[in-house]
Order: sequence, then structure tokens, then C-alpha cells
Amino acid sequence: MNYSQYYPIDVVNGPGTRATLFVSGCSHQCKGCYNQATWSPNSGHPFTDLMEDQLINDLNDTRIKKRGLSLSGGDPLHPENLDAVLHLVERVKAECDGKDIWLWSGYLLSELNDKQRQVVDLVDVLIDGKYEQDQADPSLEWRGSANQIVHYLK
Ligand code: SF4
Repeated sequence: MNYSQYYPIDVVNGPGTRATLFVSGCSHQCKGCYNQATWSPNSGHPFTDLMEDQLINDLNDTRIKKRGLSLSGGDPLHPENLDAVLHLVERVKAECDGKDIWLWSGYLLSELNDKQRQVVDLVDVLIDGKYEQDQADPSLEWRGSANQIVHYLK
């Protein structure tokens, strides 16, 4: 998997202070997408084992307490990202006590395949659905357009 941006301290993408990873790879091609540079799974930088260890350490760093991890993109549930994202969320749940996971995806909760479900089963909050420009509303919390739904799964 590749990623486009990583913020070890972020107060914008989800509630509280978080670590946020924007992965590469998205096939939804939403009109008006702000992250077109992330569409190719080959864009950005390799998400290495070292990088994964760093992210786990950042989440557990008590000097600036984090509420959890935000996963966005791109699409963390893009087929080419599933192995790496599943490995990452499994580690967060096993090694980062009490941290929540928020995940943004263009896929609908109702249409996930088994592997995508495996990931989402470990996620606390899923914001699903493509960005629909004609339903865009900057006043919405945690989502860009009104068709998207914030699913509190835990
Ligand atoms: S799902 Fe997100 S990253 Fe993918 S095309 Fe739509 S707005 Fe862009």
C-alpha cells in the first residue's frame, strides 16, 4: 500500500486529537474530488513496516494524548489496500489500548465484500458513500456531502 499524507497530530479529521493517514488508491472518481492526486494506488509513498511501527508509537505517545486513528484517502477499502489496512487496524486494536478508529470510504456499508467487512468490523466509526457534488454542504460534520452517512458501529 502507498499513502499520500500522514499527520501524527491532527485535530481536523475526526473528534479529538488524532493521528491521520491518507492512503493512496481510489476508483470512485467522484466529481469535485479534492484528492485526485491520490487516485492511483502507486501515487505517494510506500507504507512500510517502519512507517506502521511509527504510527503505532505515535498513537501510544503519552506526551500528546491521542483519541484515535483516522483513515482516509484515497479509499482505505480500495481492493489494493485491504491487506495492509487490515493488518494496521488489527495492530491498533491489539496494541493501542482504548484508541478508536474512524474510516472514510466511498463504498457503502451495505455493499462491502467479505474482506472489506473484516476491516470495518474493527472500526469504530465508518463514514461511507461517494462525494456527491450536488449534495455538498460545508456545514456537515465529518462529511462533505449530505448523502454520506456517519455510522457509529461500536
Ligand atoms: S471517494 Fe474520496 S478520494 Fe475517492 S474520488 Fe471520491 S472524494 Fe475522491
